[in-house]
Amino acid sequence: MEVRAYAKLNLTLDVLGKRPDGYHDLRMIMQSIDLADTITLEENSIGALQVRTNLHFLPDNEKNLASQASLRWWEAKGVPPRGLNISIDKKIPVCAGMAGGSSDAAAVLRALNQMEGDALSLRELAKIGAQVGSDVPYCVLGGTALAEGRGDLLTPLPPLPKCWVVLCKPEFSISTPALFAKIDSVRLRCRPDTQGAVAALEAGDLHGVARRMYNVFEDALPDHRRSRVNDIKNILIQCGALGASMSGTGPTAFGLFDSEGCAREALEQLRDLSGEVFLSQTV
Ligand code: ATP
Repeated sequence: MEVRAYAKLNLTLDVLGKRPDGYHDLRMIMQSIDLADTITLEENSIGALQVRTNLHFLPDNEKNLASQASLRWWEAKGVPPRGLNISIDKKIPVCAGMAGGSSDAAAVLRALNQMEGDALSLRELAKIGAQVGSDVPYCVLGGTALAEGRGDLLTPLPPLPKCWVVLCKPEFSISTPALFAKIDSVRLRCRPDTQGAVAALEAGDLHGVARRMYNVFEDALPDHRRSRVNDIKNILIQCGALGASMSGTGPTAFGLFDSEGCAREALEQLRDLSGEVFLSQTV
């Protein structure tokens, strides 16, 4: 079976506070886009779990989130794992704030479930996914959703009106644990209007969503990294983006466009910066 694992963007991302269990309470609007990894699952007769990817630096053992997801699925089903080859063709940049690994895990949960006759409900798959990572439950669901708690309390939202998305991932990576550690001591200059963005989604108002986009982790970036993300956002806005923000803990920044021509112009301008650029659409 071949399945696609879609990247996610944060239209808004707010950190509400630190919890007694050490995690942070978040409130964010998540959106799937058609930038995707392709995952192939094939039963094997040797009875082993084998995973391989086109990126040499990713784990090819049970540390890969896709393998972890398959093991959790068999565990939840209460039967011993069958032999399975998982092959991942990565297109989503790694450590970029787009939940690439979580999306691979979610896609494996959905695919295995389908291969085994839809044994578990989506809600059950999301619960299994939460054991693999906080973003996995959202990736099981996909589309447009409000995520709260650790990111695993999900409320489906009306879809973001169709638009073009231009993304730029600078050449550096950001450590997610380091940024979470820093966010508690940073004075946040601005908070996203998530409630207003939900109302705009309910009204089908793309402009209203775009102008409310914000991610509090932008304030926690080291200065030289923040200025790089701001450069990208400025180019996107100058080219006609309706709004621009950073996704997850970064460093990928993106803009929403209602004009394909403006989106392509932004893509060309961003190609001059070092990093990876993508033109995508919402799913
Ligand atoms: P998030 O937005 O959820 O914080 P991210 O985009 O920052 O995610 P990922 O690309 O999902 O980060 O992966 C981060 C880590 O997970 C890397 O250290 C990587 O080695 C590990 N990993 C394990 N399995 C995978 C996979 N299938 N794809 C990508 N990364 C994986």
